[in-house]
Amino acid sequence: MDTAGPGFNTRAIHAGQDPDPATGAVIPPLHLTTTYKQDGVGGLRGGYEYSRSGNPTRTALQEALAALEQGTTGLAFASGLAAEDTLLRTVCAPGSHVVLAGDAYGGTFRLLSKVAARWGVEHTPVDLGDPEALRAALRPSTRVVWCETPTNPLLNIADIALLAGIAHDAGALLVVDNTFASPYLQQPLTLGADVVVHSTTKYLGGHSDVVGGALVVSDPELAEQLAFSQNAMGAVAGPFDAWLVLRGLKTLGVRMDRHQANAARIAEFLLGHPAVGAVLYPGLPDHPGHEIAAKQMSGFGGMLSFRLAGGEPAALRACERARVFTLAESLGGVESLIEHPARMTHASAAGSPLEVPADLVRLSVGIEDVEDLLADLDQALG
Ligand SMILES: *Cc1c(COP(=O)(O)O)cnc(C)c1O
Repeated sequence: MDTAGPGFNTRAIHAGQDPDPATGAVIPPLHLTTTYKQDGVGGLRGGYEYSRSGNPTRTALQEALAALEQGTTGLAFASGLAAEDTLLRTVCAPGSHVVLAGDAYGGTFRLLSKVAARWGVEHTPVDLGDPEALRAALRPSTRVVWCETPTNPLLNIADIALLAGIAHDAGALLVVDNTFASPYLQQPLTLGADVVVHSTTKYLGGHSDVVGGALVVSDPELAEQLAFSQNAMGAVAGPFDAWLVLRGLKTLGVRMDRHQANAARIAEFLLGHPAVGAVLYPGLPDHPGHEIAAKQMSGFGGMLSFRLAGGEPAALRACERARVFTLAESLGGVESLIEHPARMTHASAAGSPLEVPADLVRLSVGIEDVEDLLADLDQALG
């Protein structure tokens, strides 16, 4: 899967991040400047004129992101949703249609149903695990198939290469939100996707201290259109945010290794626990997406959900009793988080086709000592 040049961790640490030619600083400088001195009118040093259009710290991040996803162009935004909005308003027009995963991220669904819909962009949620359902939902106006795999919070898996073929036959783009897997575990562009979307707020930043988003593409024409929109619409990542994500990226590989080793241990523990009705983790051999995940991912990730035999009261109780796991939204940081999707991250999906079960608890498994995480869950479920 990961075939181009230097290995993943080498790219994470070095791509776009050569020592500063002016000072030798090993870490890319944080360029807190809005504007750049010109040597004569139009005489730009390094192509920079104004920091919405370009900033060297953001450039470093964008080059690193492109290298990690094996794309040619990375673009960094103020948030994952800012990246999504810029993408949708670039590739869609009034009358365009989007097919999205039936259990896509709630914010993506809200952007389509509450914002894009007012501008005449239509959408249909479908189960992307069912290729026939996808084919049936396609229309001549379908511009985008929007896939998330693994999904949030149900950890469903979609076959990226299969979806790319179906989308392309229909003249649509395949967009993959790769936030849950991160490029360390899955590189959708190499499987035929046209655009990778990230909330860099999550595993890429990795320390729960920065909100950001990204798009990565390989097609030069699409790259040019998106870069134009990034500047024209202006939802760019600020330099300090870009710098923080860049710092996070360097340890993505070692963090993911620990996230997923801990998650696998916890999945096993929960499977054997009498209070737990079902464990949703693609690393489990009887997970319906296990084989596809094993084919297109190099590991199963650090996100895991489970259903409580005691229903919603038991789910709420577990969330409130956890101590090492912090009760909070978001995911992908070094610290373990626990949450109740139906009332927290996915509350906006209540009553919609994307509603999630009330007995569901989602874990973002951190990189603490796994014995402490297991003991905490044991007491929280006890
Ligand atoms: C968090 C998240 C987003 C949105 O990103 P923000 O940075 O919060 O705007 C999109 N997709 C997925 C899968 C996410 O988890």
